[in-house]
Amino acid sequence: MDAINNLIELREIMEILLSEQKLSQKLISNLHDQVERTLIMAANEAIIDRHPGWIVCEGHRAAELYLCRNWRRSGKLEDEKERLRVLAEQMKKDFFAAQNERVDLELVEKIMRDLDEQDHFTEKVLGNGLLLILSAGCAHRRFSALCRPYIYQDDSFSCDVYLFQRTLEDRSTSWGSILLHELGHVLNLRLTGDISVVPDDFLSFAEWFFPGLSTKYRASAPEFFAHCFAMGVASRSGLECYDAFPNIQKEHKQLFDIYMRSKIAQL
Ligand SMILES: [Zn+2]
Repeated sequence: MDAINNLIELREIMEILLSEQKLSQKLISNLHDQVERTLIMAANEAIIDRHPGWIVCEGHRAAELYLCRNWRRSGKLEDEKERLRVLAEQMKKDFFAAQNERVDLELVEKIMRDLDEQDHFTEKVLGNGLLLILSAGCAHRRFSALCRPYIYQDDSFSCDVYLFQRTLEDRSTSWGSILLHELGHVLNLRLTGDISVVPDDFLSFAEWFFPGLSTKYRASAPEFFAHCFAMGVASRSGLECYDAFPNIQKEHKQLFDIYMRSKIAQL
């Protein structure tokens, strides 16, 4: 693939490739080999960097890793083309070019290192799975970030977090808070196997703080869970700058931190 800088350019390249009559199985295989090699290389570098559980990247590499993770292989040329076409269409629906907002990836890496040091987060939560944190270099029509789970046939899973560029109006939340929220979803997935179902004991615990959570607002419980994880971490000393909930009592945030940490420790 030529130099591409973001997921918009990736989609454009995919569309050009798919429009070429001579797109052969060999070309498709070569492309897949290339993005797979990029993933292996990034994983090796993460091991050398002493954080084997996660990869943080942007630009060309992020685009290749996105394609690698979202590409479901098929042996047949026509199926393969169709799957790539569907993926490109979905990308067109979801992503759009945005004003350049630089995502602070150094800060993202620092948070991951802190969580690994304090809670063995990736080791406990992901096991042998790999968490990719990709700066998409474009905006999403609905979200500023996304947690994308992949659940495999043996029930193991891996997860990716995509960070999107935001419009000027919604830049009030820091990248640190956004990342912590998405990591809350990752923990939720690990605990229940389903990102849309929170642990039962979370419902009974959080009900004290958010009356109606287990009944009237149950559908919003996964979002509450992710927020509570983020506010818990942001109550730790040195991490307060990621707090997106200044109006909630610090003691309450600390209780959520204790809850989340005990869930991680039990893994
Ligand atoms: Zn969320």
